[in-house]
Amino acid sequence: MLTIHDIAVWDTGERIDLVISESDEQRLLTESGAIVSGDIDGSSLIVAPGLTDPHVHFRDPGQLDKETMVSGSQAAAAGGYTRVLIMPNTLPAADGRDINVQEVEDGGEELKEVGVYNTLDYLQRYEQLHDVKLPVRYDISVCASLGRAGKLPTRPADYERFMDSASQSARSDNTNAKTSRSADNPLVEHPLRAITDDGSAITDEILDAVLADSKATGLPVLEHCEHHDSGAINDGVISRKLGIAGISTETELAIVNRDIEAARRTGVHIHFQHVSTAGAFDAVRRAKVEGLPITCETAPHYLALCDEDIVKYGAMAKMNPPLRSEVDRRATVAAIADGTVDMIATDHAPHTAAEKQAGLADAPNGIIGLECAYGVCRKVLVEGGAISDERLIELMALEPERLMGHTPTDVAMLLNTSSTCATKRTLDLSKVEHPENVDLTLIDIRNDWTVDSSAFHSKGRNTPFDSWDLTGRPMATIIGSKLVFSRLPDCLENRQDGSMTV
Ligand SMILES: [Zn+2]
Repeated sequence: MLTIHDIAVWDTGERIDLVISESDEQRLLTESGAIVSGDIDGSSLIVAPGLTDPHVHFRDPGQLDKETMVSGSQAAAAGGYTRVLIMPNTLPAADGRDINVQEVEDGGEELKEVGVYNTLDYLQRYEQLHDVKLPVRYDISVCASLGRAGKLPTRPADYERFMDSASQSARSDNTNAKTSRSADNPLVEHPLRAITDDGSAITDEILDAVLADSKATGLPVLEHCEHHDSGAINDGVISRKLGIAGISTETELAIVNRDIEAARRTGVHIHFQHVSTAGAFDAVRRAKVEGLPITCETAPHYLALCDEDIVKYGAMAKMNPPLRSEVDRRATVAAIADGTVDMIATDHAPHTAAEKQAGLADAPNGIIGLECAYGVCRKVLVEGGAISDERLIELMALEPERLMGHTPTDVAMLLNTSSTCATKRTLDLSKVEHPENVDLTLIDIRNDWTVDSSAFHSKGRNTPFDSWDLTGRPMATIIGSKLVFSRLPDCLENRQDGSMTV
């Protein structure tokens, strides 16, 4: 049993004692010296709903040298995340089709090994097929186009069986989402939750069909708002100075404008991934005023870095969309501050060291993000005065949960239903109603730490944030009321006598 005294509830600030009765031994991940039982002083900690990332690449199946479902999930747990949404640009692509045995030879070794010939099926039953317990929850997404090639739309008939029957009711009635899920249907554990061709925009020729399928299935469309064939970094002073082909900000704006018009025409919910430019934020801002079903995310790197940083970080700062100008970076922070941005996603994209050493022009796009996202965002947004600590939790926990059709854990409500009246209340997770639905992150918002990518749980080391000094770090991750990750130090004042318990 782990009792954390004097921990603050993230939104109300109320000081409580938090009791975690057992850890999930099968899933438990700890850092050296971390404690999982005993009594500790938690007065520097907040208890918040678990962070959720609606945009991760775990490279499994197909590129296990970059990441696997296991290493990616461990990185998520260590970053304070309790749930992630897996993007479908795996090899083979997760487009819902069964592939035949010949095709498996081309990038489907992992499928062949477990005898499953459908990537969605492989992902959904990953734990069962590999006899492992992954430390975090995950949902899956399906490509918008077959093979993610942009030519033909994917077909609901191929992928509907991977959906959760609760998905659609979750959308109409968020409050019933968790309780209506059937526990004995293995397919609901990791449901299909979104349609996306992430990595490139949905092409003009299939857009209407994809929107119609979104309407029919209730799955939101996640749009990567870029369509271009050339360019490695932002088009501007830096690209000209370095002599590298640039990507215009117009590429993002063109897709954003096209899709806002599509949302107006069809009423389909379109979610823009990693928006990065001032013009696109303005367009989203206007669409929201109009009341259109548009949401958007941005990523830590777009609010923390600009294209000038490429000179220092090289390919470690290469991603798609590219880091934009300082004007765009400031517009990103402003769009977060005024509520235009609904949520923050990492776009966690691991690559090998060798690939990133290929140089700015040739290295693949993408950086990892799960294990330092909270600290980077807090440094720029909260310490920078743009938003409060509470708003940061909304952006990284509540809003992504809602996008994926889940009901975020409500700490204040748990307290009201579980604890007896006392001067200081106790939240005993073994005594709450539906403990299986309680996902929490314990964050030390005053913890000073230095990013050390060599200690990451991810296989990826491709981050520009290595050796950054940050304040604020997730210290423990709780899923289904059980501890799955701890870096809680026992150097916090130990209170074996339990004197603080009321
Ligand atoms: Zn992505």
